[in-house]
Amino acid sequence: MDFKQCPLKYRLRAIDKIPEAPSRAAVRGTLVHAVLEALFALPARERDLAHAAALIAPSWTAVLESRPETVELITSEELDGFLGEANDLLQVYFRLEDPSAFEPDSCETFVETELADGTPLRGIVDRIDRSPDGALHVIDYKTGRAPSPERENRALFQLKFYALVLMRTLGAPPAELRLMYLTDGQVLSYEPDAEELARFERIVSALWTAIDTAARTGDFPPSRSWLCGYCEYKPLCPEFGGTPPPFPAQLPEQSPREP
Ligand code: SF4
Repeated sequence: MDFKQCPLKYRLRAIDKIPEAPSRAAVRGTLVHAVLEALFALPARERDLAHAAALIAPSWTAVLESRPETVELITSEELDGFLGEANDLLQVYFRLEDPSAFEPDSCETFVETELADGTPLRGIVDRIDRSPDGALHVIDYKTGRAPSPERENRALFQLKFYALVLMRTLGAPPAELRLMYLTDGQVLSYEPDAEELARFERIVSALWTAIDTAARTGDFPPSRSWLCGYCEYKPLCPEFGGTPPPFPAQLPEQSPREP
């Protein structure tokens, strides 16, 4: 999706591997995801809001340990407010579903496959549920607001990507892709079919070919859009008066990932 949105952003992130400073919103998202993962590790009867709230502090400690660069992002004066924001998002989550009422098939699942033309795909799915009839439901938590209808496609690209990996791994598409937006309590649900995912597969293959060509020529142009407002690479971007570093002479080994 990075490449489709802006080839230069993809290059700086995936090829130059220039680290991005974590934003407060992104770190809060990491924390809420960690709490929900820990919540589903509890016995179903304990998955209530009180247990989720009690998991916030230890999950925050775990986030700090795994990403020490976040330590300076939240000052000790801000910490209570920051953890309170995570609690607010969890309250919205509990309005959307009752996690004690079902057992997920898996959480934070690493999925990986290779398409027929050799395009490598991999990613981590927040949660996979299996309904009694065996159908799979792919769930992704978003800690922001639901997008406007014009921006829904961007959100769905990521889920279709996971659905495609699962379809190619398991032989059948998931029954549902569901995005849960924990700021405004919106749910975006989508039922893919095999034909549509086959079309999506051709789009992903074409993107991978375009990435491959760009990597050989070094041509990763910037593409300005509303998403520039959230881009950490602005200081290196010619659209904003910056200069990217020289294209690496030696490319890092290509790692399969979302395009
Ligand atoms: S600021 Fe905008 S155009 Fe520049 S790299 Fe980031 S997303 Fe691309």
